[in-house]
Amino acid sequence: MVYLVGAGPGDPGLMTRRAVELIARADVILYDRLIPPGALDGARPGADLRYVGKQPGGHAMEQDEINALLVELGREGGAVVRLKGGDPFVFGRGGEEAQALAEAGVPFEVVPAVTAGVAAPAYAGIPVTHRDDASAVAFVTGHEDPEKAESALDWDALARFPGTLVLYMGIKNLPAIAQQLVTHGRGPDEPVAVVERGTLPGQRAVEGTLADIAERVAEAGVRPPAITLVGPVARLRQRLAWIERRPLFGRSVVVTRARAQASGLARRLEELGARVIEAPAIRIQPRPAAEVDPHVAEIEGYALVALTSPNGATLLMDAIERTGRDARALAGATVAAIGPATATQLRRRGIAPDIVPDEAVAEALVEALRDVDVEGRRVLVARASEARSVLPEALTERGARVDVVAFYDTVAEPLVGDSLAAAAEADYVTFTSSSTVRFFMDGIDGNFPGGARVVSIGPITSATAREHGLEVHVEADPHDIGGVIDALLNDAAR
Ligand code: SAH
Repeated sequence: MVYLVGAGPGDPGLMTRRAVELIARADVILYDRLIPPGALDGARPGADLRYVGKQPGGHAMEQDEINALLVELGREGGAVVRLKGGDPFVFGRGGEEAQALAEAGVPFEVVPAVTAGVAAPAYAGIPVTHRDDASAVAFVTGHEDPEKAESALDWDALARFPGTLVLYMGIKNLPAIAQQLVTHGRGPDEPVAVVERGTLPGQRAVEGTLADIAERVAEAGVRPPAITLVGPVARLRQRLAWIERRPLFGRSVVVTRARAQASGLARRLEELGARVIEAPAIRIQPRPAAEVDPHVAEIEGYALVALTSPNGATLLMDAIERTGRDARALAGATVAAIGPATATQLRRRGIAPDIVPDEAVAEALVEALRDVDVEGRRVLVARASEARSVLPEALTERGARVDVVAFYDTVAEPLVGDSLAAAAEADYVTFTSSSTVRFFMDGIDGNFPGGARVVSIGPITSATAREHGLEVHVEADPHDIGGVIDALLNDAAR
């Protein structure tokens, strides 16, 4: 089976459920340049991913060759996905590919998608139809030079078309297109908008009229992919633009937390309009069960159990379950947690921590534990292998018998080329722990993005950043992810 699948205009959130499903199932994926970032992340490991789009300065593959390849792969019998930007049957040559498959008797399925001609305007605040302003819409290719005598387009008819014109691939020919429309009778003051990279983080819109749009677009340096809209609806953008008004629109923010934990922060930043560059500098590597389980086997003997991070909390509870126990194993202990996220992890696993200091630092926990009698009693501190010794030292001083058990190591995650390149132009770099600072600085080899402002989750992380020669521009308070986002919003509004 060959699936002709549209991947939508660029925002990964606009991919259809069917597209995502088929990408996950495909044996082979033939894809183009204009597919959303990360669209192939869900492909099976081992799937054969082949780029068949344009290279700068030429075609990677002629259309005939792509058709022939689709037929050949289709006959081999696997699940073949032909993945295209936007909708496969709107200026995507999907029609030709379907014809080739039909002729060869290869079964196929078409997965329609959100087309750029509707989505890019929508993200720029332009409805392509409107009760008062446009009762019809025409999708037009701007690829053809309108001066050519043999043009397939009837410029006279297009000029008279009673509705919105949506031009794909029209940036190079824009001066000639605008000229033709005016020559054939469309008013020179007809509103026009050009939307570049619509639905993507770098989205930009230029407004004008048929008389001046070519000049404005040239001035702004607009480059493909871009959609051109001609008609009164283009003006509605002045009231209806929405994504561009989000507080972090146009800002790029590097997230250095471990990939497994980055998604919450990344999603919230994206919802605020930011472009998020995930550059996980660290990875959480649990210590082997053989190492931690013997300590957990004595869990009932501890008077105080202290968790210093969400990972520590999760891994302790995992070990408790792995050794045949459940939340009741902590029934006799005082449970203390540093940080609201650590407390949340515990609650998810059925433990309401007794003590969570207001400030998410070890010193604050020491202070909060002042009235807990630990003299001569056993204390478990579950944490990362490398961590500050403030808590265990303070408790030992007060006569506690402290076991510090490392439940995980924080190890370097190699930074990949793409995220490094993107990070180099970032507006903000966020650090949510000292280890993200250390490993990110190692990973970039001292080349900290020049203009980027540093956002730190709290004083300990800030101190580490300063040790690495960074100026900390923004420090969160409270010292959690919500605090990081609020601090970033404040800074962006400066
Ligand atoms: N099948 C695609 C169109 C392919 S033709 C679809 O349905 O959207 C390629 C043209 O689509 C580009 O030249 C540009 O005009 C438009 N396009 C694709 N992605 C775009 C985007 N994110 N923003 C603006 N225009 C886009």
